[in-house]
Amino acid sequence: MGADRLQGEGGVIYLDYQATTPVAPEVARAMQPWIAEKFANPHSPSKWGREAAAAIEVARAQVEQAIGLEGGSVAFTGSATEALNWALKGTVEKAPKGRNRIITVATEHAAVLDTCEWLAGQGADLTVLPVRPDGLLDLADLERELDDRVLLVAVMLVNNEIGVIQPVEEIARLAHGVGALMLCDAVQGLGREDIPDGLDLVAVSAHKVHGPKAIGALWMRDGAEPAPLIHGGGQEQGLRSGTLSPALCAGFGAAAKLAAERRKSDHEHVERLWGSAIAALGPRWIVNGSVEQRYRGNLNIRREGVDAARLIADLRDVAFSLGSACASGSGRPSHVLRAIGLADREARSSIRVGFGRYTTEAELVDACRRIDAAARAQESVAA
Ligand code: PLP
Repeated sequence: MGADRLQGEGGVIYLDYQATTPVAPEVARAMQPWIAEKFANPHSPSKWGREAAAAIEVARAQVEQAIGLEGGSVAFTGSATEALNWALKGTVEKAPKGRNRIITVATEHAAVLDTCEWLAGQGADLTVLPVRPDGLLDLADLERELDDRVLLVAVMLVNNEIGVIQPVEEIARLAHGVGALMLCDAVQGLGREDIPDGLDLVAVSAHKVHGPKAIGALWMRDGAEPAPLIHGGGQEQGLRSGTLSPALCAGFGAAAKLAAERRKSDHEHVERLWGSAIAALGPRWIVNGSVEQRYRGNLNIRREGVDAARLIADLRDVAFSLGSACASGSGRPSHVLRAIGLADREARSSIRVGFGRYTTEAELVDACRRIDAAARAQESVAA
């Protein structure tokens, strides 16, 4: 795969980095032998099997290093969605008597919110906290809810729809103060923001960091491992059964290594792109969510009177999205935009422009100018 492939095939400018990221050429190369030639089962004791198992352990160490936390280890899963389901359901299963409360936040990903709702249907006592208009949790709201019946607090690091960064270190400290565990969905944070100390369970996903799809991981602090969700052959220390894919693990490992190595340059690149995008869009666009406490590869913006769905239809060769990929797919209004207090009309005027490592300044500026021009064209038709 050449760099050209990453520059937007068929004239499409790809600006949907929160939905998924282009596979890095280094990742494709790391996966290749495990797809084309090396087919051994990594859990078999043969020489080939042991070679595959060794490659998986290298990948595990790379993912652990990119996460950067001490005192725990990673188990591979089929997605971050699985990792979050496992963390939540498996922690509830092992809950000490008297602890059945889960606290989470209204702007979490559906993998957390829907699983929590399911657990509530099974008898868990669920509290979903609101956020402020800037998208951040008010710690006083959390403190008011915390007591010794709280089992788990689940708050994401970087929001997938609006990019805001929650103060998860402080949240974990408060959770630990009442003896609760802290789960963090760090899917959009890995390789972009520091994953702070003090977390007990951390979910990540390869395809958001230029790795392959259908592989995620759960980092578990020693002693905080949830009960297994998937039973069978006893892989992953008996915690997550199922034959691992050496290709997917090697791809995730290579992606994690690159993300850690390129962290500073990727970050600087994204900061520059943010400034160029804001300038190219012009003054009529309003940023949704905090500008300061934010990963700036996520530009979620709105403009008075714009029909965002029409904007997307009008600009077929610019790949950007409505609030979130999930919200666009289901036709449901974005729960995140609603949670920060936007009226339906404002949410319908919101788009998410997501960029990163392989986005060039020229293509981003071109796309933003086209987006602004299409918005102005809507206005002139409406006038
Ligand atoms: N959490 C967040 C914040 C995400 O953005 C996503 C992906 O959309 C997920 C969880 C789910 O990740 P996966 O696609 O690996 O299931």
